[in-house]
Amino acid sequence: MTTEPVAAAVGRDFIRDIIQADLDQDRYKEIVTRFPPEPNGYLHIGHAKSIALNFGIAQEFPGRCHLRFDDTNPVKEEQEYIDSIQADVHWLGYDWGKNLFYASDYFDRLYEWAEKLIRDGLAYVDDQTQEEIRLARGSLTEPGKNSPFRDRSVEENLDLFRRMKAGEFPNGARVLRAKIDMAAGNINLRDPVLYRILHAHHPRTGDKWCIYPSYDYAHGQSDAIEGITHSICTLEFEDHRPLYDWFIEKLPVPSKPHQYEFARLNLTYTVLSKRVLTQLVRDGHVAGWDDPRMPTVAGMRRRGVPPAALREFVKRIGVAKANSVVDVGMLEFCIREELNRTSQRRMAVLKPLKVVIENYPEGQVEELEAINHPDDPSAGTRKISFGRELYIEQDDFMENPPKKFFRLSPGNEVRLRYAYFVKCTGVIKNDKGEVVELRCTYDPATRGGNAPDGRKVKATMHWLPAATSVPAEIRIYNQLFANPNPDASNFAADLNPASLEILSDARVEASVAESNAMEPMQFERQGYFVRDRDSTPGRPVFSRTIGLRDTFAKEVAKG
Ligand code: ATP
Ligand code: MG
Repeated sequence: MTTEPVAAAVGRDFIRDIIQADLDQDRYKEIVTRFPPEPNGYLHIGHAKSIALNFGIAQEFPGRCHLRFDDTNPVKEEQEYIDSIQADVHWLGYDWGKNLFYASDYFDRLYEWAEKLIRDGLAYVDDQTQEEIRLARGSLTEPGKNSPFRDRSVEENLDLFRRMKAGEFPNGARVLRAKIDMAAGNINLRDPVLYRILHAHHPRTGDKWCIYPSYDYAHGQSDAIEGITHSICTLEFEDHRPLYDWFIEKLPVPSKPHQYEFARLNLTYTVLSKRVLTQLVRDGHVAGWDDPRMPTVAGMRRRGVPPAALREFVKRIGVAKANSVVDVGMLEFCIREELNRTSQRRMAVLKPLKVVIENYPEGQVEELEAINHPDDPSAGTRKISFGRELYIEQDDFMENPPKKFFRLSPGNEVRLRYAYFVKCTGVIKNDKGEVVELRCTYDPATRGGNAPDGRKVKATMHWLPAATSVPAEIRIYNQLFANPNPDASNFAADLNPASLEILSDARVEASVAESNAMEPMQFERQGYFVRDRDSTPGRPVFSRTIGLRDTFAKEVAKG
């Protein structure tokens, strides 16, 4: 048995190339990655990319991937988020096994190391306000200014830092900073903050701490403690790498991880900022984190997106070093492909129009056979009952059709799927002149949908029996944002007012209504749908995962 070619089958990228080279040169026995979410919101599809990368690498190479909660800011973090993140990673198909960690597990060690930095003259307590620190930081073109507290003695620094820890000072009164270089070209090295005072209850450490480490200080050291070999993050951290390396060099850490950066996922018509997603939920623009319009993993799960489609999407977009924006059509394409392959076919009428088959005997019902999947005979067939009263789609009828309209119109013959040819013989209208019912005749010789005399019809339409179909609510989702590049700083202005359309008079096949299955189905000619948890016993609710039409593939073909 050989382990070498496994990764090749998955697709290569610069990170996997680096890892392979490290293995070839025997730098590591095992590759250890981590996915480090901050539990301050639900995961979104950008995180799915990072999860697939980190956990994928651990599957392809000999290795493991840790799930580590970066829980260093108790003000924004909640248990609900910790739980949802674990559920989402599992749902995506990945498993951390025993390797579940929290940055807060390391608070004691991080504190000890901070004291060591002080003793080594590499950190100091600064009494400046946040604003003063910001102003003294300088800019890309100007160096920063040293803090008046920068040259405190080791003893004074240790005393003040211990008193910060003991809770003697209010929030914001002091910070601990690394003593690096206020004139460094890289602003991240201008004496970054290591600890801030925050009198806040932490979900895991309770009231033990009132000082909390910064991301920059906690992250690399957590990696080192866990023996992470490749610490993979998004490009905005590239400029933080010298700081990451500085800590690893100055502290007696048990291993020496390296940070690698890749381009984050951006999607058209989508905002992937936790700040904005949190606001969408808080301000009630959506029904919650798992609203099917949200780009969250929970939203997509509720919407019926299969995890395999997300994995395929992430594989197709690859891992690059330069930022770009991916067409959301690419994601939709992957969802459609997967659902086309896996989902059973059923019939639903979204906007019903009643049809009476005048020459069909009153009281008669017959069972016709419908196939469950056109490409998969093993999916079998089901019965659908045909009777004198049916429903068709309102859009499938026009009283005065234009030339190219081949569906039902007065005098025109069409095929009802799995059933018969029917012809429209009459139109019934209400007081307002709207068509409310059609009269048709059927040709008994066309049972199953073919004429023995070989005559053809130009349209095949879906339909439902009036007697045994079931009323349902159908929810159609469109893009949450109307702007292809939503403005994150003023996102409310870019929201699509028509992102949710509710069809409350829809009807579905009895077999669909009776089943509690949460697998998505294709409603023929309409798209892919999934039962929503808002369903009640007499009234199922279905969400459209995605329509059938693939505009993206057409655009790609056009070039
Ligand atoms: P914030 O830090 O603003 O709260 P975040 O999206 O960076 O938001 P984290 O919980 O820190 O949230 O992210 C966890 C991991 O997911 C990080 O390693 C981060 O780099 C990665 N990640 C976040 N957004 C994306 C994205 N759009 N594409 C790829 N990876 C992402
Ligand atoms: Mg982050």
